[in-house]
Amino acid sequence: MTDCIFCKIVAGELPSKKAFENDELLVFHDIHPAAPVHLLIIPKVHIASLVECETQHEGLLGRMLLLAPELARKHGLNDGFRTTINTGRGGGQEVFHLHVHVFGGGKMPHLI
Ligand code: IMP
Repeated sequence: MTDCIFCKIVAGELPSKKAFENDELLVFHDIHPAAPVHLLIIPKVHIASLVECETQHEGLLGRMLLLAPELARKHGLNDGFRTTINTGRGGGQEVFHLHVHVFGGGKMPHLI
């Protein structure tokens, strides 16, 4: 999608600090970290949000989530971490390209 900043990062048209990449997924450090470690896991294909996901995306979503503990381990988040998927404007989503936030490294406030 031409006006999507995360698609531009995937295409190498915008810079990012990459933490992981394979054929399907890209992980990079959030530009405004909310914790000492704050990573974003994104699919390379453009999917606007969790609402747009269908049965065909089950495997992709599973692989995105399963990557989180691996990334956390690699970044020293041995005491735990938080994963968040903001969905839609009402859910606090600002970038409409599906992403899983993985963050930690400090004491995370209890939200719910
Ligand atoms: P959302 O609110 O769940 O959509 O989160 C979007 C996240 O993307 C925010 O935490 C932003 O700081 C982050 N972000 C926006 N632009 C960039 C960028 O160019 N590089 C890395 N992170 C970004």
